[in-house]
Parts: sequence; structure tokens; C-alpha cells
Amino acid sequence: MSKEFIVYNTLSRKKEVFKPITPGYVGMYVCGPTVYGEAHLGHARPAITFDLLFRYLKSQGNKVRYIRNVTDVGHLVNDADEGEDKIEKKARLEQLEPMEVVQHYTLSYHKNMEQLNTLPPSIEPRATGHMMEQIDAVKKILENGYAYEANGSVYFDVEKYSQDHDYGKLSGRKLEDLLENTRELSGQSEKRNSADFALWKKADKHVLMKWDGPWSEGVPGWHMECTAMSTKYLGQKFDIHGGGSDLKFPHHEAEIAQSVSAYGSESVNYWMHNNLITINGQKMGKSLGNFITLNEMFSGSHDLLEQAYSPMTVRFFMLQAHYRSTLDFSNEALQAAEKGLDRLMKAVELVGKLNASEKSSVDVAKLMDDVYTAMSDDLNTPIALAHLFEGVKWINAIHAGHQTISAQDIEELKSFLNTIVFEVLGLKIEEEAAAGGDEKLGQTIELLLKLRGEAKARKDWDTADQIRDELKAIGVIVKDVKDGFEWELAE
Ligand code: ZN
Repeated sequence: MSKEFIVYNTLSRKKEVFKPITPGYVGMYVCGPTVYGEAHLGHARPAITFDLLFRYLKSQGNKVRYIRNVTDVGHLVNDADEGEDKIEKKARLEQLEPMEVVQHYTLSYHKNMEQLNTLPPSIEPRATGHMMEQIDAVKKILENGYAYEANGSVYFDVEKYSQDHDYGKLSGRKLEDLLENTRELSGQSEKRNSADFALWKKADKHVLMKWDGPWSEGVPGWHMECTAMSTKYLGQKFDIHGGGSDLKFPHHEAEIAQSVSAYGSESVNYWMHNNLITINGQKMGKSLGNFITLNEMFSGSHDLLEQAYSPMTVRFFMLQAHYRSTLDFSNEALQAAEKGLDRLMKAVELVGKLNASEKSSVDVAKLMDDVYTAMSDDLNTPIALAHLFEGVKWINAIHAGHQTISAQDIEELKSFLNTIVFEVLGLKIEEEAAAGGDEKLGQTIELLLKLRGEAKARKDWDTADQIRDELKAIGVIVKDVKDGFEWELAE
């Protein structure tokens, strides 16, 4: 069902009708992970938000080129262009090559993304694979007079840029406030202004990750890779740039300034930002002990988790909130999501088993229209899901004989649900979780051993031994102890 897509543009701070540069083709760039640790909940939200956008735009008949980068060099431990590269630091601590760290966490990120059923992007470029492009962009900015060289590093000149352009327009920061920090600059800083940021950073002697650049052996500044790679694959002007709202400043603000300085105009037509995740109302952070990785989420192995939550429960939970709202993780909310997802999936399955009547007492066309209207309104998934649950209610009522549906409407509903639930929302039917399966196995063994205990009590030794021996044959070791029995699975 094709509808005009309304998108909230972070830059203009209002909803706009989405008009791609070339009708039918959409170019979107999303900032991906810096691969120096396991993916956590904070990575899941942008991944799911922009996967949803990717799927939605495709469902509307567009060809979409979706670029999501991997940052494998250049992201320093702090935003002030000082300190170690995050990947190099991890490599030093673990006595690995930096590229071993990159490989390990890229693979683990991909595995998590597959579990969450996010589609792979069309291109996944890496910073280290685009040194020439980054150096070229830095050269252009220098040529255009918006950067300066200092001791082998190149910095972006925020004050100079601000004479001609509006630095801070995306994040809403005021230049005066940014420049005021100048006084705090230590005497040793090479920067003219603390608001300036590195485009190229000269590397210390002992640093492993560095490249031979025109100014020194060094690395590009973190913001540079996204400007260089988005331009390479989407052109100097493209439709959508996305990312988490924590990237608005300095990362995306710097990207805008770099594009304008290098190419003479802004690259992005629509900026989209997903909001952040809180845990039990608190900001997520390593120091707060509430930093939950996706692997911990899926296995339940974190002190804050009462149980394991499946990838689809996490995905469904995120879809229940609008991407621009903050989302608070709690066991309660996740357990509710688990139940909601189960109800939805059962109803989708039930549609195939409904009996057709002469006439429908339910309005399938209106349901479809309501759901797509919500989706077209800046991906309003909470409203879309609310409508879908009205549909769930009817499906159950039709099945119970309280409502009726025609054969034609059953087919319409089936195909609509398949499209919206599986293709657009990206949910999938999950196999019985391993943990749940183990639980059932345990209950079955306990039941057999209870029967064996009863056999022993009535001195039916043959039956008791038979149960023990046959369990042993399939790898369950039973031991008689003082007041009953113990069992374990053989290795
Ligand atoms: Zn980026």
C-alpha cells in the first residue's frame, strides 16, 4: 500500500514529506559501530530503527542503497582529539593485533544483527579501507581555507567556518558557548580553538595503526570517514543520514561542516536520529554496572536480568516505542513484550485456520489502511502495533465464532499480515528457546524418576532398574542418594 512518507527531519526540527532526489531510489547512510567490544543494547536500537526504515522504504517500491559503516580506526577514547584509539587500546590490553580486535567484534556484531533479524546493509565500508578518500577530503577542506595544519596534524577551523556558515545548526549548540571554552585550552594544545576538531591526527611513534599521509604518519579524524564514505557511495548529495541521537554532536555536526567545506554544500536532505535507551530509568554506562550486551540479553546472564529474552522479544520491545522516544528497559516491560509478541504470532498463525463465512463483519481494508498510515507517519510503530492488536482481537473473535470473515478477506488479511509482520516489522517465528527446551527435558526426567521411585516403593525392582538403565543408555546418569536420587547428563 503506497502512501506519502512523512519524516521528522532533525535538522529542520519538523516533519516533512519525504521526496527522494531520484524518485524510486533512496540513498541512506547510517553510522555503524566502532568495533572494539561486544554489541550492547545501545547498538540494537539504531540497527533496528534503520533496518525498519530500510524495509519500509523497500516495501513502498523503492530501490534502497543502505550504507552502514564499520569504524575500525580513528575513534579516540575521548572527543577532544586526545587519548588512544579505542581499538588500539583494546588490542594493547588483550595483546592482540588491532585487526584481530576488529575482526573478532565485527563478526560478533554481525551475528547479533542476524539474531535481531536486521538485513545486511547494501555496502558496509570500513574506515581503514578508505584512506585515500579521507585524505582527499581533508586536502579539499585545507584548499578551501577551513582547516589549518599544526605539527603534522590538521584541524578544522570552527571559528573561520562560522563566519560563513552555521556551526551548531543540527545539535542546536551555540557558537559562543563552544568558543568560550577556548580559555580552557591548555598551553600545549595545537588547536586554535577548543571547538576545532581533528581532520588528520599525527600518530605517536609507538602507535600501531597509522598511515603515511601528506602531513605526517597518522590517522584521519573519526568524523572524516563518514563524510568520505557517504560521498563515495551515495554522491555529494543524498537522501537520508541516520544514527543515534548521541552522535548529533560532535560527530554529525562535524560531518555537515566537512561536507560544506569540502564540496561547497550540505550533503544530506533528511537527518534522522533514534533516541537513547535507559535501564530502569538510568542512563546506560559501563561505570553504572547496567551495561547489558546483546549476548547477555539473549542468555539472561546479567545481574539485572530475571530471565533470558529472545532476540525477537528485544526487537518487538523496541518496535513498541517510537524511535524518537527514549526507551526504558525493565524486566517487567520485556516480559510484557514477550507476551505481546506471542499473542501476535499466534494470531498470525490462526488466520490460516479461520473458517470463511458469506460476509465479513470486520473491516480488513480499514485495518490495512490504518497500519500503513501509522507507518507512513515517521514510522509510528506503536500506533501501527495498536491497530495490529485490534486485528488480533478480531482474529480470535472470528475463531471463537463471534465475528465473521469472507474467504476473500481471509486471503487479504493473510497476505497483509505476512508483509507487515515479517517483511516490514522484521519479526520472525523463533524456535523454542534452548533454555525452554532444557527446562522441558528436565521436567520429563524428573517425571520418569518419580515413577521409578514409586516402583521402588512397591518393591518392583525390575521396573526401577529398567528406567535407570534406559535413561543411562540415552546419557542420563541416575545416582541413588540417601533421601532420593540425583541425576546429571553425561558429557
Ligand atoms: Zn558516522
